[in-house]
Amino acid sequence: MRILDIKDKKLEEVVLPQDLVGWFGLVYKGILRKDEPTQIESDDCIQYGEDNFAFGGLIDKKRKLFMFTYFPVGSLQSKGRWTFELTENQIGDIAQGKLKSLRLWACQQDGCQVKSDKQSRTCFYHDYEDDGKPSPNHLTKEDFDRQQAEKLDLLRKWTANQAKIS
Ligand SMILES: [Zn+2]
Repeated sequence: MRILDIKDKKLEEVVLPQDLVGWFGLVYKGILRKDEPTQIESDDCIQYGEDNFAFGGLIDKKRKLFMFTYFPVGSLQSKGRWTFELTENQIGDIAQGKLKSLRLWACQQDGCQVKSDKQSRTCFYHDYEDDGKPSPNHLTKEDFDRQQAEKLDLLRKWTANQAKIS
């Protein structure tokens, strides 16, 4: 059974990579155009571009607050992921080059690229230990990887369809 064994996280000033800055440019244009995915509350309706290295959703309409997931180094195979919340204004600042970095809590294990704006958010890969007992109700690492692959595959199909429509 996988049991929680949380390792220390370190708060880092993380410079936003160019691919992500460009992507937020698309998101901000979508917000200004009032694209439907930017107006409805969701975890993952916001998907732009062809590379699918990031997605997000409006999590609080009143506060104009969004949550995003980014897969660093432009690789869908990368197990790294950054998760963070941004207000609409912050997205605009990133798109316009005024906001260039975020403060994220980074997993410190083995060059892991899991980072989050919440110190309490666990790293799936390093904050759990196996106590050797079976646990049919918990995801194995393989199941988690497969579910992630399936989700990314859906994203690819969705993006391909959007490209056909527009
Ligand atoms: Zn980690």
